[in-house]
Amino acid sequence: MNSNAVKLTLAIVLLVSAAAIAWYRFGNAEEDAVIIEKTHWICTASSCGKEFEFPAPDYARIRRDSPDAVPPCPHCGTSTVVLGVPCSNCTKLVRPVGHGQLPPACPHCGKPPVAN
Ligand SMILES: [Zn+2]
Ligand SMILES: [Zn+2]
Repeated sequence: MNSNAVKLTLAIVLLVSAAAIAWYRFGNAEEDAVIIEKTHWICTASSCGKEFEFPAPDYARIRRDSPDAVPPCPHCGTSTVVLGVPCSNCTKLVRPVGHGQLPPACPHCGKPPVAN
């Protein structure tokens, strides 16, 4: 075996082990994130109107492909959904009134949805 073949073999071995470590770490990190983080959505279709949760890492992934992407409603399949914010008082989802602003009073409990 000449020295070039030895170097090439060594390079391939290093590359494969680096890829294996990266894959292992990435897989674990994503699994943790799914358990910890999720986003809350409200379907605005008049015949549906249901609420659902969507894992934050999956949401980040679809927004990486398209910045305006939203998850489809799992109940009716449409994409007429808005990001909801859990009320700090009653924990029900509050629908933002444009540009991420919350209404002054929660539609469920009538109290301010954000604790000051
Ligand atoms: Zn729906
Ligand atoms: Zn409330």
